[in-house]
Amino acid sequence: MVALICKDYGFECEFIARGSDISKVIEEYSKHSADEHGIEYSKEALMQFIIRKG
Ligand SMILES: [Zn+2]
Repeated sequence: MVALICKDYGFECEFIARGSDISKVIEEYSKHSADEHGIEYSKEALMQFIIRKG
């Protein structure tokens, strides 16, 4: 199980993308950040966020 928690990246936002499929979690979060925050993270950057969390 991996998760990307929007709040962890400095947003006042309760969005959490989570699941067992890393690529789906990344896709979901990347869509959310582009739609809601106007920020497009690269898949590599989001992968780093997940890796750093352990
Ligand atoms: Zn958000």
